[in-house]
Amino acid sequence: MARVLTPRAEDFPRWYQDLIAKAQLADNGPVRGTMVIRPTGYALWERMQGEMDARIKAAGAENAYFPLFIPESYLRREAQHVEGFSPELAVVTHAGGKELAEPIVVRPTSETIFGEFMAKWVDSYRDLPLLLNQWANVVRWELRPRTFLRTTEFLWQEGHTAHATEADAAAYARRILHHVYEDFMVNLLAIPVVPGRKTVGERFAGATNTMTLEAMMGDGKALQMGTSHELGQNFAKAFDITYSSQAGSLEHCWTTSWGSTTRMIGGLIMVHGDDSGLRIPPRLAPVQANIMVVKAGEGVAEAAAKLRDELAAAGVRVTLDDRADVPFGRRAVDAELKGIPVRIEVGPRDLAAGNAVLVRRITGAKAPVPLGEVVAAVTAALKADQQQLFDDALALREERTVDVKTLGDALEAAQTGWARVPWSAVGVEGEAEANGKAVTVRCLIRPDGTVPDADDEPDLVAILARAY
Ligand code: AMP
Repeated sequence: MARVLTPRAEDFPRWYQDLIAKAQLADNGPVRGTMVIRPTGYALWERMQGEMDARIKAAGAENAYFPLFIPESYLRREAQHVEGFSPELAVVTHAGGKELAEPIVVRPTSETIFGEFMAKWVDSYRDLPLLLNQWANVVRWELRPRTFLRTTEFLWQEGHTAHATEADAAAYARRILHHVYEDFMVNLLAIPVVPGRKTVGERFAGATNTMTLEAMMGDGKALQMGTSHELGQNFAKAFDITYSSQAGSLEHCWTTSWGSTTRMIGGLIMVHGDDSGLRIPPRLAPVQANIMVVKAGEGVAEAAAKLRDELAAAGVRVTLDDRADVPFGRRAVDAELKGIPVRIEVGPRDLAAGNAVLVRRITGAKAPVPLGEVVAAVTAALKADQQQLFDDALALREERTVDVKTLGDALEAAQTGWARVPWSAVGVEGEAEANGKAVTVRCLIRPDGTVPDADDEPDLVAILARAY
């Protein structure tokens, strides 16, 4: 078969860009670092949004919408925040044909403006916790943009919450990390993620603790898939978010923030894609099964329509491709590029034998199935192949992760995969040395795999890798 993409093993970054173009997921925008998300890519994002949104709501947060424009002075109120974000800000200085009295920033994130309004809305302990989320676009002037992974404008959800106690804020930030992000990434994206905490050097600007979910891509590099921050009382003090306690005293709140973005689409591609294109986990897939009329013929259209109705009735997201005027090979290659999990071929020859042909994108298996058994076969395939993708990604991660004792060995292992090394053998100095060699401490975990608290504790394990 003609090669559709640059092979993954030959040039991974090129393969990634090829796939995005050929599967019609996105195009580069005219302003450097921006992207146009095409309908095929946007359908993935809509599925992600829907699944994430349900989990966010199950965790008790409500959606709101805040302005895109933030007074520059807001960012200055939290010293670390403004320092961290200044180099990435897009600032509006002119509008309506005049120079503005005060510059306005295009939001890079919204802790400050949420803080301003939380201060207005929170009065007593009865108003807490205040659990908010917004779906929006944000702008960060990235120097090395890459489609989906790091764009100057990206789509995301950002959660912002205020709590009465540090313990409540800490518990909520962890609840989001595990029950929203980890659950979604493992069960929908079929991506095994490692939850951990960031080192002090890698913390979000203004946070007292940053927790992350790290995934291994197909080339052994790491990608940060989402973050959940404890902000302590930093923003509460900067924006005067206070409440009167049950005892009657005035207290500052404890806040959190957490975000996940269109970067997840990039992660999906780099974990599950192959030389024929994307492979979408069935539970995520906007289209799970595509019925393809191979060739027009006696009873073909009727049989295809009947299968479509049966599959839809069984809850399968199904489409029918009956464009008999477009060559079958071209349609098949296109469906494979786009990663539709299952294809059901209906043509005169198989139909005469009472069969359709089931082709599974994820395993590559192809077999005739009696018409009456198609629904059961498709449902079983979708379930098994979801698991297969996860198992394959986990196997790769395990194969490419090594346990080492020294920084030197970790730096070497990080050239091809992940290194797990005692944090005591790395430390802040080792981290700086690693960064100089394009290797980063992805996260710190406890020996039992759980997420450590913000303070250092003995026996922490550091995961070192090269990253996107
Ligand atoms: P942050 O608010 O910095 O914690 O970012 C939240 C999440 O956004 C991170 O975990 C990243 O996965 C993701 N992210 C950060 N910068 C970008 C970017 N330029 N494009 C896409 N996603 C991003």
